[in-house]
Amino acid sequence: MKDALSQGEFGLIDQIRRQFGDLTHEGMTGIGDDCAILSQGHGRSWVVTTDMLVEEVHFLRAYISPFDLGYKSLAVNLSDVAAMGVAPCASFLSLALPAGLPEGWIEAFLEGYHALSVRYNVPLLGGDTTSSRDGLSISVTALGQGEDTHLKCRKDARPGDILFVTGRLGDSAQGLHDLLDGRLDSPFIPIHHHPEPAVEEGVWLGSQSAVHAMMDLSDGLASDLRHILKASWVKAEVSVEKIPTRVPVELAVAGGEDYQLLCTVEAQDAPLVQQQFEARFGRPLYPIGRIVEGEPVLIWRQKGQEIHPDWKGFTHF
Ligand code: ADP
Ligand code: MG
Repeated sequence: MKDALSQGEFGLIDQIRRQFGDLTHEGMTGIGDDCAILSQGHGRSWVVTTDMLVEEVHFLRAYISPFDLGYKSLAVNLSDVAAMGVAPCASFLSLALPAGLPEGWIEAFLEGYHALSVRYNVPLLGGDTTSSRDGLSISVTALGQGEDTHLKCRKDARPGDILFVTGRLGDSAQGLHDLLDGRLDSPFIPIHHHPEPAVEEGVWLGSQSAVHAMMDLSDGLASDLRHILKASWVKAEVSVEKIPTRVPVELAVAGGEDYQLLCTVEAQDAPLVQQQFEARFGRPLYPIGRIVEGEPVLIWRQKGQEIHPDWKGFTHF
């Protein structure tokens, strides 16, 4: 018998999208972007995202502190809101808790979640709590809102656009690698356990009309960029040597959980956007390639020459 998961994570999401496409109507944009968009009218919209963290799939409870896990659970959701170009405004938290959590564990988890909530003034407005027979599961829903003209979707990349990332890639993947290899003193492990969502950067990039498409990097550039290419039906050329990283490039492009933003910017405005981003945030917006017309394929170039590495991003199955 064929396994229900054999179609892969994205095949399954496509099936769900097809089956439920009949119910989405005007003023709603559903499955396929970092967040769904629900129009409020008067030129504003809500955005909504939900992300689950499952023990043994997304984290190893023996290694991550409850504080960091609480922080990270919200961080990965705020990252998806930021990727739409608007500010987060509320969250919901659901927990399935196994027996045997040590005393103080939940308190520390909530402190981590609270620390990030305070930082961006995002109230926790609800959720659900239940027990679990096997492992801890955390599900967070985050809401954001902003002006329609600030919303950045994956489908809006245009030929000629310059591709940018907001920061260094691969530190988190190196941290996971070191953790699994038992190098527990690695300086990359805390980065893997404590991602910072690019909330202010996302809101700022959202306010720039020259920014066309945007998404956050959760599964690795090699996988995530392909979502922009398919949604916009364009091709991309990425210069491998321009990718900001201090780890082997394969980890930087195929490892996940960087939570930097990836965006495409109108070429003639790109130098100004780059300059203003640097003035605003005190660090560069890194150009890594460009969007060109054509089938949605990702071309890697090294010193100008096309190369064909076998780089794939992370998938959950
Ligand atoms: P991200 O990494 O940005 O959180 P995902 O790769 O998890 O995005 O999901 C891609 C898209 O598919 C999103 O729009 C998400 O809402 C949607 N999606 C994922 N799983 C499901 C599901 N079980 N039911 C409906 N939509 C889903
Ligand atoms: Mg995302």
